[in-house]
Amino acid sequence: MTICYLNDDFVELSKASISPLDRGFLFGDSVYEVLAAYKKNLFRLDDHVDRLNKNLELLGIKVNLSNTEIKTILKEVCLKNLEENQIIYLQISRGVEEIRNHIPKEDTKPTLFVCSFEMKNVPKENNETIKAILSSDIRWKKSSIKSTSLLANVLYKIKAQEKGVDELLMSDSGFITEGAVSNVFCVNENRIYTPPLEANILPGITRKVIIEIFQDLNLNFEEKKIDEEFLFKSDELWITNTTKGILPIIELDKKIIGDGNPGKLYQLVKQAFLKKIEDCKA
Ligand code: PMP
Repeated sequence: MTICYLNDDFVELSKASISPLDRGFLFGDSVYEVLAAYKKNLFRLDDHVDRLNKNLELLGIKVNLSNTEIKTILKEVCLKNLEENQIIYLQISRGVEEIRNHIPKEDTKPTLFVCSFEMKNVPKENNETIKAILSSDIRWKKSSIKSTSLLANVLYKIKAQEKGVDELLMSDSGFITEGAVSNVFCVNENRIYTPPLEANILPGITRKVIIEIFQDLNLNFEEKKIDEEFLFKSDELWITNTTKGILPIIELDKKIIGDGNPGKLYQLVKQAFLKKIEDCKA
């Protein structure tokens, strides 16, 4: 049995329902967050709530809850579900209106939904590697907003699956933006690079944690625009996100990256990332 939170109540997921007139359904007029809970501790909770607030503010969605109340709901959902390690989704739409209209009403009450799934593959020491393809970025120019309008990302993931790979990286006018569900890092001659936040990418929380690790370990790092040629001649290529942590790409468009194995810097950074997970206390 899975317990979720919908508007003001904790309910069994199978009993939860929302109106078809919800603006999230009609217009994709909604934002979301994805959090990892390790041993029932929510990883980087403050960072996720900060990013959520920024998105809500940008869209003018007014939720009548304090940060503490939002955090309490997230923690409660985590505690009410049995799994030790969970992926928790928080979704907020602008709410339900009686008459369909692109222009929202001032007094519409946002819909708040939080649910949890078991995190089956907890990041751990292993030799997991992934393959990816490159495609042009067809998304809108506000991909920094964590919006549930994920149609492009859905199409990308279908394409990746059809091609037998795990992730699809995007490039816009020849410069890499991010993955369909991840941020991207590459290593060239011992220096680590990632596209800057201005490159129309999601400010990933895992990206932030990984950059902190570079600072902790005194690694050579730069945020800069990465062109396709630079990407293909990388010694190492990684993706990061909340559900997978950090993973090395060893094949891009069927071309081997580096020597086709997880690189030295990857292993160092992954080790430090696993330590952060281990130490996490919400
Ligand atoms: N970019 C995109 C497009 C994503 O969907 C995600 C995962 N939500 C990320 C980056 C990584 O963000 P985070 O580290 O906060 O999970």
